[in-house]
Amino acid sequence: MTARIIAFPRRFIDVQWNDSYDVYAVLCPRCVAAYATPRETAAYDWADTHRCDPEMVALLNTTAAPTGGRAA
Ligand SMILES: [Zn+2]
Repeated sequence: MTARIIAFPRRFIDVQWNDSYDVYAVLCPRCVAAYATPRETAAYDWADTHRCDPEMVALLNTTAAPTGGRAA
């Protein structure tokens, strides 16, 4: 499986091509919202219009390790 990282200059959201499913996988690392679409334009449109759920972000910030490390 290969993942092509597409730079997204204005946002922190990852847009990656997923060879396994032939879709663009979009993931917001802040609120862990995810979206998948075969259309690149739709992927970027989602990333561009996504708004984080503030409750989810607050919850994740509360439970996340302060060092930024992630347990396996
Ligand atoms: Zn988000």
